[in-house]
Amino acid sequence: MQEQSNHPETPAKKTVVFILSADFSGSTYLALTLGSHSQAAYVGELYKMFLDDPIPCRLCEERGRQCEIFGDVATTRSENIHHLVLEKTQKRVLVDNSKTISWSQRFLSEIRFQRKYIQLIRDPRGIAFSMQLRHQQMDISSWIKQNCDFREFLQENQCDHRVITYNELAEETDKTLTESCHWLGLSFEPGQKQYWNFEHHGPGRNGATAAFLENYISPDKQFYDKAKTSQFHDLRWKEGVDARTTEMIMSDSRMKNFLTDFHLDFSETGLTRKGQ
Ligand SMILES: [Zn+2]
Repeated sequence: MQEQSNHPETPAKKTVVFILSADFSGSTYLALTLGSHSQAAYVGELYKMFLDDPIPCRLCEERGRQCEIFGDVATTRSENIHHLVLEKTQKRVLVDNSKTISWSQRFLSEIRFQRKYIQLIRDPRGIAFSMQLRHQQMDISSWIKQNCDFREFLQENQCDHRVITYNELAEETDKTLTESCHWLGLSFEPGQKQYWNFEHHGPGRNGATAAFLENYISPDKQFYDKAKTSQFHDLRWKEGVDARTTEMIMSDSRMKNFLTDFHLDFSETGLTRKGQ
């Protein structure tokens, strides 16, 4: 099949999928499973390549080797980074887990590849638990605003996008990945769920990717160490989040409107689509 085409909607055109989500939403899990497809690459939180004194690739840094994908691209201009990495990896799809509007909007006029976007939403009780582990208090107003801002950005710019909940990803993994891959012009490969079987390169690290790194401490490290070679639905919040925080989230007056707007409901295992 011809790889390049002048028509922007031709499936053969290379694609960058930008993930937009609040912190602790499971975006690393989503990005790793998509990026483990044989024709895709996970590139982590790519914006971190352009922070002061960046480390191009945490994995290769720890292993004391030059990263063959990112080792010499840190000095490039940000506008070219996806294009360069697509060239280097020879993959059809890059999964950029930078998660922010400010990063995504830099590439709105990009025509060298297709741009697609996934807004990932996780039950705020799960996020509150992850923050509690880090001695942080969740601000539900900020979380609602952030997710509404993502939606506004995607709609205003007529971005080709999907909304995925963490529950769909964790409970209906095959269905969610099959649909997402199809939308990205790929055929789902069951092996991509075992993301730990592949090496992943990128500048960012957090609890989930840190599981691959030996010398990194995180409040989630022990949990991910146990879970890193299996699929799992992180439901620690059900036992672990304090009652006051649950009450604050469930009784917030703006939450009802948010759930209506996004066609979501609270369930025993987290946010799910209405009627499911
Ligand atoms: Zn590397």
